[in-house]
Amino acid sequence: MMGLARDGGLLLPVTIPDVRDRLAAWSGLSYQRLAFEVMRLYIGDIADEELAGLIDRSYRTFRHAEVAPVVRVGPVRILELFHGPTLAFKDIALQFLGNLFESILSQSDRELNILAATSGDTGSAAIHGVRGRARIRIFVMHPYGKISPTQERQMTSVLDDNVFNIGVEGSFDDCQRIMKAIFRDLPFKDAHSLGSVNSINWARLLAQIVYYFYAWFRVVAETGAARVRFAVPTGNFGDIFAGYLAARMGLPIGLLVLATNENDILARFFASGIYELGSVRATISPSMDIQVASNFERYLYYRTGADSRKLTGLMQEFGVSGRLAVEPAADGRVDELFAAGSGDTARTLALIGRYYEQYGCVLDPHTAVGVATAEGFLSEAEPMICLGTAHPAKFSRAVRDAVGRDVAHHEILDRLAALPTRCKVLPASESAVRAFLEERLGL
Ligand SMILES: *Cc1c(COP(=O)(O)O)cnc(C)c1O
Repeated sequence: MMGLARDGGLLLPVTIPDVRDRLAAWSGLSYQRLAFEVMRLYIGDIADEELAGLIDRSYRTFRHAEVAPVVRVGPVRILELFHGPTLAFKDIALQFLGNLFESILSQSDRELNILAATSGDTGSAAIHGVRGRARIRIFVMHPYGKISPTQERQMTSVLDDNVFNIGVEGSFDDCQRIMKAIFRDLPFKDAHSLGSVNSINWARLLAQIVYYFYAWFRVVAETGAARVRFAVPTGNFGDIFAGYLAARMGLPIGLLVLATNENDILARFFASGIYELGSVRATISPSMDIQVASNFERYLYYRTGADSRKLTGLMQEFGVSGRLAVEPAADGRVDELFAAGSGDTARTLALIGRYYEQYGCVLDPHTAVGVATAEGFLSEAEPMICLGTAHPAKFSRAVRDAVGRDVAHHEILDRLAALPTRCKVLPASESAVRAFLEERLGL
């Protein structure tokens, strides 16, 4: 629940279990049962029945019986991760996190007040993960008037007593600056039991490892392949890092294809070994408009041979100069498990149009960045699974621009316009947000 360690570092398990000898036994399991088997390897303090119950409750809110089905589209397969309440893959982890936190809090008779800053998807998935729960309150800041009307309404139409939406009169950076300043004040943080659910939270990664296994079993059973490839539209390096962990657990993954939009710091790293900050550009796949990928540090830990001191040195170098470098292997490759590429707006729109025309399949712009990159790494022997990270209706404007018609709808989103909303608008100042927290938390 602490998110960041108190020394500012990230948390990782001491050891990663090797599950190669269990793959055969796991191959026919349901999504929920597989989640139980994978997660319990990392969880020592929750009883088996309790964990199984948490997992069942988390995925009962999904609108597909398989939770994360795999569908074949042209030369690739799409792993559909968007059947949860807010239609983006973040629900898979955040529905679980809400149940997990509630369980831990009730066992220890504690409360938690979550403070989050969002540019869109994370905030709504987090709100839907904890709405209506005893012992948890959530305060989500978004840049007022600067996110899409759909994204705004997915958050502000949730009227549960424990949900507080704050529209900050400023940018997303202002929201993040305010959040970080408040979290740095450890006495205030402790006094108000503040916590976070951002993407460096280990439990989120844990929940995401599961679907790599699930998809692998489905596709291997269908094709008889020995290995598969995954293409992952990437921003904060959370989703693809879960795939990296699955590979380290022994899942036979032939290649992880890291796909970025114009914000390509990670793609450049896996091509050159150099991780160098650029400036953030706004694109049609906004959940990937990120330059500093907060989970990348975890990858670097393994990359430096699990040497914390070396890692600290690299991160300090990056903090000072905005640049760090690792030595590629003798063959010039930075990491043989990874391939990388980036897709710009024109290429992404063209791909969405082509997949609609040729296969009748509507892709959201994030998924499309992954598919466009994946097409450069297809193999006869190793089927390609592209992670479908959002339902196209969430980004219907980009889809309309690509296809020429309005083809992306979802009844949940269509209904939003008629719902009542609640949101507190505050100036972009730390003191205003603090005062609001104090008033609501009654301290
Ligand atoms: C968050 C998000 C991503 C990026 O995932 P990371 O874990 O940050 O790499 C991609 N697509 C969608 C739709 C998202 O919401």
